[in-house]
Amino acid sequence: MNRAVKAFVLTAALAALWGCTSKTLPRPTAEINALRAEPAPEMQSLMNPVKGHKFDDTWGAARSGGRRHEGVDIFAKSGTPIRSTTDGIVTKRGTNKLGGKVIGVQGPGAWHYYAHLKKFAGAKLHEKVKAGEVIGYVGDTGNAKKTPPHLHYGIYFTNGGAVNPYPLINQER
Ligand SMILES: [Zn+2]
Repeated sequence: MNRAVKAFVLTAALAALWGCTSKTLPRPTAEINALRAEPAPEMQSLMNPVKGHKFDDTWGAARSGGRRHEGVDIFAKSGTPIRSTTDGIVTKRGTNKLGGKVIGVQGPGAWHYYAHLKKFAGAKLHEKVKAGEVIGYVGDTGNAKKTPPHLHYGIYFTNGGAVNPYPLINQER
């Protein structure tokens, strides 16, 4: 093999290897935008993300730094499965200071935010999820370190931003 052919073969081999090991799918922007444009979820239309665990309406409760609670907290033993409440696409899967390990799912008309996870499960960034699919496990990461393990769940409407998840969830489902 001459030098040019060797270089070509090596480049092709590296590209193939990269393709196999690269974990991030391209962002499906058109599908995400189509979901965003759908009508927002209706009252009682969503399943409980932590099956069998009742929770209170703590929307708007005072939080550190003058913040207001932009969601609900669902307390459960560390490691309890968390289900996506909606069909959608994972648009966030990582960590931040307050939320710890977090997942965001773009569903029809709304974006769903799950925080304080112990660990992730199932769908990777930019993959599709089904309602009821396990996407992670309850934990106490981020600013939940000093509280009992719980899921912080937030819903952000495409039109209107943060809304109270409480009336949208049927806790029995
Ligand atoms: Zn919370």
